[in-house]
Amino acid sequence: MGAGLSLKTSAALYEQAKSFLPGGSTRATLFRKPHPFYVSHGEGAYIWDADGNRYLDLANNFMSLIHGHANPRIIEAVSAQLARGTCFSMSTESEIAMSAALQERAPSFERICFANTGTEAVLFALKAARAYTGRTLVAKVEGCYHGLSDFAEVSVAPEPDAWGETAPASVPYSIGAPQAVLDNVVVLPFNDLEKALSILNDVGDRLACVLVDPVPSRAGLAPAQADYLQGLRDFCTRSGALLIFDQVMSFRLAYGGVEEYFGVTPDLSCLGKIIGGGFPIGALAGRVDVMDVFNPESGRPKVFFGGTFAANPISMTAGLVALDLYGRQEVARTNALGDRLRDEMNEWMRASGIEACVTGAGSLFKFHLGRSEVRDYRSAWVDVAQRKVTADFVDALATRGFHIIPSGLGCLSTAVTPEDIDAMIAASKEALRAMH
Ligand code: PLP
Repeated sequence: MGAGLSLKTSAALYEQAKSFLPGGSTRATLFRKPHPFYVSHGEGAYIWDADGNRYLDLANNFMSLIHGHANPRIIEAVSAQLARGTCFSMSTESEIAMSAALQERAPSFERICFANTGTEAVLFALKAARAYTGRTLVAKVEGCYHGLSDFAEVSVAPEPDAWGETAPASVPYSIGAPQAVLDNVVVLPFNDLEKALSILNDVGDRLACVLVDPVPSRAGLAPAQADYLQGLRDFCTRSGALLIFDQVMSFRLAYGGVEEYFGVTPDLSCLGKIIGGGFPIGALAGRVDVMDVFNPESGRPKVFFGGTFAANPISMTAGLVALDLYGRQEVARTNALGDRLRDEMNEWMRASGIEACVTGAGSLFKFHLGRSEVRDYRSAWVDVAQRKVTADFVDALATRGFHIIPSGLGCLSTAVTPEDIDAMIAASKEALRAMH
């Protein structure tokens, strides 16, 4: 991390941690050189590190804290539940209340199953699609992150020499991915409907599903064009494949999630992050006839859905309050602050001749240094040296008291005020000016 902050305690903690954890932490994506900072506590929109430095937290635990830290209503509800038990091997009423709250928001959420992470939600979505259609192939979009299961990991971060001549290639993310996995994933370009359809038409009725995140963070956080999503919808309807929206990060964009935001209806949706109110969660929601693959009433479900801590009453209780506090007004207010951050920064960077841009939608944003226009994974891609420039910018923000993810990604919580946004804009300009 940059100069200007005293980080002595964090440095000592890092030295200690290296003996136990690979690279000193399980939170590898937040690693910063020479060491990350360690958090002591958080309240509302702010966190404090182990040395007492305060930051406006615009990382919000990887976009999962829609109300910031230690929201009093969530604490109160969870504390009451803690005293009544944290998890049981049977269902609780909180699971019904939580599923009803989600179902009320989006017409396509006809049935819902709860898991512990977004990774699991995607894993179950792919299993459901295969069981429902009886087909094996999965299509996903180049550069999109859907958690860490084998199939979802294909082509998350391909380097240009592996991009493929005519169509995106299936490229492993983790070393050691089995060839069988790569052979069963078809990779599509983002926001290029014509090319995507030509690839999809070739695999036609062998395809179980098309998995897409409409605002993919690792593929540049440029929103999908509505006609791209509609084109994928129409293809799926024609071919019998299922359309799966990964809304784990993007559900926050509208009261009813991305189906409301883009006006396109998926068959299945993967949910996570904000719907847990700060506790681990994942959920799969969708068409009743598809979700019936998990239904034990049939005698033997086609797919077993489960998890030791799935639908635990702590996550259910916290999530229910978080959803209750995120009504249409709060969504609109938080999105408007996000619009202001992106618009003001983009205008200023253009006027200042700085080659950079901020992408995103609603309360999600991503800074791209060295790129003035980003449409998809390839137009967002930068080399290692340029990635370091972005990481330096993120460090420069941290020394000014603003915390975002080292890739330039961030989000707003409802705890953020217009004054916080003014301060973030001023700090970003100052950091960029110092670098140019
Ligand atoms: N899908 C998307 C779009 C995500 O952004 C993430 C996490 O960042 C996941 C899935 C995985 O969620 P989790 O980290 O809860 O496993």
